Parts: sequence; structure tokens; C-alpha cells
Amino acid sequence: MSTFKAPKGTYDLLPPDSAKFLAVREAIAAPLRNSGYGYIETPSFETVELFARGVGESTDIVTKEMYVFETKGGDRLALRPETTAPVLRAVLQANLHKAGNLPVKVWYSGSQYRYESPQKGRYRHFSQVGAEAIGAEDPALDAELIILADQSYRALGLRNFRILLNSLGDQECRPVYRAALQDFLRGLDLDEDTLRRAEINPLRVLDDKRQDVQKQLTDAPLLRDYLCDACKAYHEEVRELITAAGVVFEDDPKLVRGLDYYTRTTFEFVHDGLGSQSAVGGGGRYDGLSEMIGGPSLPSVGWALGVDRTVLALEAEGIELDIPSATSVYAVPLGEEARRILFAKVTELRKNGVAADFSYGGKGLKAAMKAANRSGARYALVLGERDLADGVVQLKDMESGEQTAIGVNEIVAELESRLG
Ligand code: AMP
Repeated sequence: MSTFKAPKGTYDLLPPDSAKFLAVREAIAAPLRNSGYGYIETPSFETVELFARGVGESTDIVTKEMYVFETKGGDRLALRPETTAPVLRAVLQANLHKAGNLPVKVWYSGSQYRYESPQKGRYRHFSQVGAEAIGAEDPALDAELIILADQSYRALGLRNFRILLNSLGDQECRPVYRAALQDFLRGLDLDEDTLRRAEINPLRVLDDKRQDVQKQLTDAPLLRDYLCDACKAYHEEVRELITAAGVVFEDDPKLVRGLDYYTRTTFEFVHDGLGSQSAVGGGGRYDGLSEMIGGPSLPSVGWALGVDRTVLALEAEGIELDIPSATSVYAVPLGEEARRILFAKVTELRKNGVAADFSYGGKGLKAAMKAANRSGARYALVLGERDLADGVVQLKDMESGEQTAIGVNEIVAELESRLG
């Protein structure tokens, strides 16, 4: 073992388990690619100011959880704690929103960094796949994103998740509600920190996980009762569209999210097998974000699904993904000349699209066959001294154990036909 370990709150993705992570990313991305979302990639760090303005000065993410550093050139940067603000920044910078094709629909996949106290399902480095639809106010777009997330979880075989849905109102009705909630909160028995939060961002208090706080919130005014007619109609339309699509959801009038930029539609995907870190994904509409970071008005909606927690959810449900073996053919040379010949054949197989691996390091037959087994290959090719003299190679079906001699020159054609 080396003296170095992965930093606290992080872990390494190692084969064979890492294949699950790739499969989860792919399962989330596939429906997006199929629905007009283009791939976007932004740097893993941005100026601190983007997150301070975009995510919100008073949020835990910005005040406590950001990895902030100063470069030698004196720039203040932060490792991204989320990717919505960076994506919007990139779209604005490239003027994609002016290309006359709104909404701009993009998806991303990548690392996020938050200095949180680590526990199962909560890490300092984690991975999300996300989707953003920028520059259109249309309930069908909100519905599309919820339907696509639902579809990717279902494609993975997940069943024990729930979709919580709420509307956070807009700049017309939320301030009225905000004031009513503040009035209510001021009358409660809350600690100083929480009272301060009630003044800066009262909605976040609804999200407080502490029992004694939650108990006092039972009779808190609900945004639902304050929504303006436009927000009410918008929300009703989203609900109808996802219902028509067969998506099951629960109305959660107390759902708020840890980021300040959300308006109207908000939703969270929670999984019941994950304990306290039960949110596997979340998102919503962020109509004001563009203006918050200096852009024009661009009503938008998006979500981010956590890859790490989705993998944990699969484990909680006992779902084994059907991940095809990485290697189809494993070549075992016995001796120098055999090595040269088989190595060339493996290269040729690979060029022809057959996944092939090779026994390196001059292993003997027994150790090499063990390695062939472990590789999961369907076929082994064994080339010994006597085979060489006869111009053949032994083709072993690792499933049936059956072994046949085939000509060295037939290897590629034979395996291509057998593997279909
Ligand atoms: P958020 O950006 O906070 O809405 O998070 C979206 C999703 O990312 C969550 O539902 C989680 O699946 C995942 N996530 C957020 N924070 C963490 C973390 N510290 N560790 C692992 N996954 C996380």
C-alpha cells in the first residue's frame, strides 16, 4: 500500500464496479440524446462570483461548502459545486441563446465538489448527469424533463423512488408569501442562526431537517395558497402533462431546494432505500438565474441526477445491471513465436471490433487460463508449440469447455461469425 489515500469524503471508482457508474451515466444520458439535448462540457472551476450570484450568497453551498482558491495570477476561483450556473454562463458567453433556436437544450456529465461532512451517500467529490433547457417558458418543457428523468430511472430498473413536486411561485407571488412566512417564523422559538436565515431566505427554513424545528412548522403558511393565477395555471399544466405521460408523483407543498435560483416548478427524486441522504436527483425552473448573472431574461428549467446515489439506489433494490463482459476473446500464447503471432491476431481482432485481451508476462498455461476465466471472455485462443507446427490454434469455448483446432488464418473470420 502506498502512503497516500484518497482525500476524506472521496472514493475511487475501480473496475469492475466502475462499469456500473458508466452504465448509470449512459442510462441517464440516453433519453436526453434522444430528445434533442446536445452535450456540453464546461471547466470544473469558475470564478467564485458566478456561484455567489448564481447559487445564492446565503446558501450552505456558497457559505460553507465551496472549495475556493486563489490562482497565482490572483483570480478567485471555486471548484464547481453544481453545474447549472456554469452551463448558463457558457451558453450566454457563446451567445447560443441568440442563434434563434430556443430553448437551448444541453446535457452534461461530471464531477461536483462540496465541502460537506461526509457520510454514506454524501461525499465531497461526487458525480452528476444533468440537463438544462434554456430560454423557454413552457410547461411542456418542465414536463419533458421530469418524464425523461423518470424514464432513465425506470430503464435502470429502479422502482422504489418517488417524485416530489411543488411550485415556488414567481417574482409576483413569492414576495407576498415570503413576507407571510417571515411573519410566521418570527413568532417561533428558533435559535439565532435560524432566525437570521428566516430574514435572509425564509423558504430555506422549511427545509430544516431538525425535529424540533419541523414540529413548529406544521402550521406554516404554504406557498400553494399564495400562488398567483399565472403560476397556478402553469403548475396545473405541468401536473396534467406528466400525469398523462403515466408519471406518478406526489405534491409536496413544503419542498424547497438548497439553491436560491429556483422559481415555479421544483421537484426532487427521492429513493426510500437510502436512509438520510435520500435525494437521488432534483431540479426545477430557474427563470431569474440568467439575469442574476448579468444575462438577459431567459426562463429555463433543468435537473441534476446524482450518479453516486443512483448506484447506491440500485444496490438498495438489489438490481444487477446487465453489463456485458468487456472482453470477448482472450489469447494465451505459450512461447516466444506463439506470442508474436497471437499478439498480431489480437491486434487484428481489435481492429475488427472484437474485444480481445492477451496474456502478458509469459504466464504458464494454468495461470493464463485463470486470467482468461477472470476476464469474462467467451472464447480463449491457446497457441502452443505443437499447434504452431500444425499451423493451428486451439479455440476454447469458455462456457461449454468445448475445444476445437482452427487454422491460424481463420481466427478472425471464425470468431466474428461465432460472436455474431
Ligand atoms: P443538488 O445539486 O443539491 O440539487 O443535488 C442534486 C443531486 O446530486 C442530489 O439529488 C444527489 O443525488 C446528488 N448530490 C448532491 N450532493 C451530493 C453529495 N455531497 N454527495 C453525493 N451526491 C450528492
